[in-house]
Amino acid sequence: MLQALLELLYPPACVACARVLPGAASFCETCDTALERLPPVRCRGCSEPGRFPGDTCPRCRAAPPPFTRAWAPFVHEGPVARAIHRFKYAM
Ligand SMILES: [Zn+2]
Ligand SMILES: [Zn+2]
Repeated sequence: MLQALLELLYPPACVACARVLPGAASFCETCDTALERLPPVRCRGCSEPGRFPGDTCPRCRAAPPPFTRAWAPFVHEGPVARAIHRFKYAM
């Protein structure tokens, strides 16, 4: 019941452009194609394209970026609580 409710309020959408997707996928076709065009080898720290020893470019090796560990793609403040709230007032 809760799962169905969440699917109703949060249909599967592309994580890059928020386009609603027909099925369970992370990216729409457009973004998926764009992703494939990115260089497959890049720095783990700053995404600088190139081949580096240990996947870390000299810049990041000298000074690791502070956001490496703070990166959080899915920040939701109580999505379930919000869904229930919206459900109550929509009915
Ligand atoms: Zn997309
Ligand atoms: Zn780097």
